Amino acid sequence: MFDVIIAGGSYAGMAAALQLVRARRKVAIVDAGQRRNRFASASHGLLGQDGRAPGAIFEDAKAQLLKYPDLHWMNGSVVAASREQGGFAVRTAQGETLAGKRLVLATGVQDHLPDVPGLRERWGRSVHHCPYCHGYELEQGALGVLAVGELSMHQALLLPEWGPTTFFLNGAFEPNPDQLRQLAARGVGIERTAVAAVSGEGERACVELADGRCIALAGLFVGSMISVQGGLAEQLGCAFADSPLGAVIGTDAAKETSVPGVFACGDAARAMASVSFAIADGAMAGIAAHRSLAFEGLH
Ligand code: FAD
Ligand code: MG
Repeated sequence: MFDVIIAGGSYAGMAAALQLVRARRKVAIVDAGQRRNRFASASHGLLGQDGRAPGAIFEDAKAQLLKYPDLHWMNGSVVAASREQGGFAVRTAQGETLAGKRLVLATGVQDHLPDVPGLRERWGRSVHHCPYCHGYELEQGALGVLAVGELSMHQALLLPEWGPTTFFLNGAFEPNPDQLRQLAARGVGIERTAVAAVSGEGERACVELADGRCIALAGLFVGSMISVQGGLAEQLGCAFADSPLGAVIGTDAAKETSVPGVFACGDAARAMASVSFAIADGAMAGIAAHRSLAFEGLH
């Protein structure tokens, strides 16, 4: 029996594990190896690691973790999780069953992009969602926001901080007079012609409009809708919390879900996503899971 089983071994899951193995707890991590930022060549905004390749940050962290003998790492996917006597049981796609006293869900989210030809292939190269992560490198060049709905207003109003911005409405959203005034105040240009495709080589994006024009950009931003990966929170009966981008697993401030003994952290359990936040979230979940073990039966 492990003290804690962690589903998802990326930034959040590893940060939880680090606190737990340093408290000499037996931890199993099961990781499917599909980090959300795997499409990007550089990760920005993480103190001390700014500009490094996401995979390099991951490999360093994993190597440090594997030095702790109480860590058991498994490559694989958790497909089932249930409450059992004294804790939880999980089953992997590879057919293994593990038992743990506590469970941490750190499975991240999947991005759902609008169905525009050429967009998905450029995700993480010339199509971005987070200006704090990728805005600086665009050198204050021409930027675009592709509307997916009213939530794109926020991106359109924020983006002029990083460069002159055009808002491609693409029939997904029409600003009301108040919103038009806000966009004008921020100097945002509005393009109502439908977007036919996104093209462009390397780190440059080109928005191809239905009337044949092609708008060259240093970067195109799009708000992706998200869904939590793994389906484990549903199986366990954890409550979800709404966010403008989609539901995430609900937790208290210590990252415990509505199901006692089940913790959730990282993108799966917070709407505002970054590697820094995922690491902080994971550390909190790891410490909270540890305390719930240490203080069991005292109350
Ligand atoms: P993830 O990193 O997504 O990891 C989840 C892990 O769980 C994956 O390994 C996955 O395979 C695994 N998993 C899923 N389901 C299961 C299961 N059932 N069983 C076992 N394992 C499972 N943030 C920044 O701070 N700076 C950046 O520059 C930056 N760039 C980005 C670029 C792109 C294109 C994208 C999409 C995001 C970027 N982000 C960036 C955001 C960042 O990637 C996320 O905030 C961060 O990866 C969240 O970490 P996490 O551990 O919660 O989830
Ligand atoms: Mg993780």
